[in-house]
Amino acid sequence: MWVLLGLYLAGLLLDSDGFSPLVNVWIGVPAAWAPAAVAWLAAYRARDHWALALVAMALSAFAAGSTYYVAALAGASSLPFPSPADTGYLLFYPLALGGLFVYLLPVRQRLARSVLLDAVVGSLGAASVLVVLLSPLLSAAGGFSSLATAVAVAYPLLDLIVLAVTAGMAAVPGLATARTGPTLMLGLTVFAAADVVYASMLATDAYVLGTPLDAGWTAGLCLIATWADGFARQEEKAQGTSEGSWTPAVPMVATAAGLGVLIVGTGIPVPELAVGLAAATLVSAGIRTQLAFRQLVTLAEVRRQSRTDELTALPNRRALYTDAPAVLEARQGAPCAFLLLDADRFKEINDSLGHDVGDRLLIQVSERLRRCLGPDDLIARLGGDEFAILLLDAGEHEALQLADRLRAALSEPLTLRGIALQVGVSVGIALFPEQGEDLKTLLRKADTAMYRAKASRSGRHVYASEDHSPGEERLRMLQELRAALIEDQLVLHYQPKVDALTGEAKGVEALVRWNHPRHGLLAPASFLLLAEEGGLMNALNDRVLTLALDQAAVWHSQGRPMTVAANLSASSLIDAELPDRIAAMIKERGLAESALMVEITEDFMMPDRVRARDILSGLQSRGIRVAIDDFGTGYSSLAYLRDLPINELKLDRSFVVSMTQDPRAAALVASTINLAHSLGLTVVAEGVEDGGALEQLGSYGCDQAQGFHILRPVPAAELDDWFTVSAL
Ligand code: C2E
Ligand code: CA
Ligand code: CA
Repeated sequence: MWVLLGLYLAGLLLDSDGFSPLVNVWIGVPAAWAPAAVAWLAAYRARDHWALALVAMALSAFAAGSTYYVAALAGASSLPFPSPADTGYLLFYPLALGGLFVYLLPVRQRLARSVLLDAVVGSLGAASVLVVLLSPLLSAAGGFSSLATAVAVAYPLLDLIVLAVTAGMAAVPGLATARTGPTLMLGLTVFAAADVVYASMLATDAYVLGTPLDAGWTAGLCLIATWADGFARQEEKAQGTSEGSWTPAVPMVATAAGLGVLIVGTGIPVPELAVGLAAATLVSAGIRTQLAFRQLVTLAEVRRQSRTDELTALPNRRALYTDAPAVLEARQGAPCAFLLLDADRFKEINDSLGHDVGDRLLIQVSERLRRCLGPDDLIARLGGDEFAILLLDAGEHEALQLADRLRAALSEPLTLRGIALQVGVSVGIALFPEQGEDLKTLLRKADTAMYRAKASRSGRHVYASEDHSPGEERLRMLQELRAALIEDQLVLHYQPKVDALTGEAKGVEALVRWNHPRHGLLAPASFLLLAEEGGLMNALNDRVLTLALDQAAVWHSQGRPMTVAANLSASSLIDAELPDRIAAMIKERGLAESALMVEITEDFMMPDRVRARDILSGLQSRGIRVAIDDFGTGYSSLAYLRDLPINELKLDRSFVVSMTQDPRAAALVASTINLAHSLGLTVVAEGVEDGGALEQLGSYGCDQAQGFHILRPVPAAELDDWFTVSAL
């Protein structure tokens, strides 16, 4: 095909102008048919592809037209106009446009509205300019008065349509950037251009047969055939997608062109059609701009939303993952601290007070956290009750200071639905760059440190290399704890509560231990949190109550009735059935209700005061006494305790320890004892480690004492020995 075209061109160049049988017939005709043959082959190869079949027909129609034309010219010096050749030539247009339509149909369905509009703008802009350029041709023939003039006008008009469609196609990213797409557009343009040049030369009688212009059509056909061939080889699927980079050049040029036509129209007369098309171009360009603007706004909004936590309006995890690496990069190794915060007992609040209270709590927490930060520090809510902070220009010291500030800010009780809630947070800290140079490492180490902070109860912890990933170890411990609950690995140790003056045992407190197969005897601090978070707390409570009551039954049968105090966790105060269950357990063993006492830490009652009060009242009404544990470490006051059904107040060991050195602490202990007595409560002092403290407490009127000075928590058998000895 290309060789024939080359020969044809060479022939036209070398041979003098005018009709030459060799060039026009023997080379020109095969050169015109070659593209048609290529297109038919392509149509055959692609099977069932109507676009290619139509294009092949179009090329054939044109080739047939030229064959007739040169054949007729070979016999006569001129041809009538229109002649049968024009039928072939004119048939080219509807067939080719039909082929384009079929080709673009599937593309169109996948096109975004914006791209379609681009194509429309491109087409209209091109059309408006072409109408101006072709206006002499369009008007020269004087309209459609006769068949001859109608045919004469039809050519430039059809070329105009072909070029406008081509301009529209150029606006579609998928077509313009595909490998063979531009070939098609170029082919159509070359073909139409040859036609337009021919027509305008004809209009001024400048045309002569046998110049290289004659090869213009053939060149266009060859390009179109090349496209068809490539398309059939599946080298290119028509792939106009809404994505792909926006190619604004076409609509931009088209808009400028439309504007140009209107401006030119103010000086010299231009056809009304051109003005109309130009106006349409500008209108559609305006719509396109509007659409683009709306898309941008939507895009910005989507981007903002996708980066913002909807509850707290803080940046979310995604935002942290994109922003933090950029910030760290920009720091070029200047120190930063990465803090991971996790609210303590948030789940309890959520479970007992409902999610909307939990949500509002999180909003207030996030506001307080934000207030503690500088304008450049990053904060994000990672999800649930977890927050991350990237503190700039900070080392270990600054990070710890901030952690303390944050914890202090949250320690002020928050009031929600009339309930004062206090939120504790545990803060894990990892340092950049020495502990991690990327966000992932920092997150992992801060997470490890955070679990250490939780376990240590200090509330904050800077990652140290000996800290191990908590994840696996925790998971394993949880499995083991589950087994421990079934396999009787939990044991109780007992610590006596004695009369502060006489030293006589008034009861015992049951303290749980885990007889771990590998780690030995574990203190509650190392597994209570795990049980709480692993949802094993109720099972643990039941186990402890069973063991404690079994032991109480043993002492009862030995003629030594003893009140056993069991510690209950917060989660058990949500369980409304608890009083009945406990009462039934006591009854099963034939014990008196006074055989059991429950100890509850004061802030455990905070999440849902009403429900907690109901449960405590239920216990009391069944004769089971209630002690408030660790008094003084929370934020409740004695006045608040007055409303709760409580029998005993256990003064936290921190007061007792400081009492011996600090007169102010001593005064506080003395007045607390008085107040508690005025409310009818028994006072037990915890953590009595020496005789001096015991004496001092006795002088303040404290009822009972408990502590290492009297006896450490021990197994039941050892306690029996202690009783025997102390009775001597
Ligand atoms: P708690 O209820 O305040 O128990 C008293 C804790 O103080 C016990 O620690 C006890 O060994 C320790 N202690 C007693 N006398 C002294 C003393 O003179 N000096 C010092 N420094 N410490 C003393 P333990 O057994 O490690 O228990 C820790 C906490 O774990 C308990 O604090 C309690 O809140 C919780 N716990 C213990 N057993 C259970 C249980 O069965 N269920 C639940 N839910 N929590 C439990
Ligand atoms: Ca206790
Ligand atoms: Ca206590």
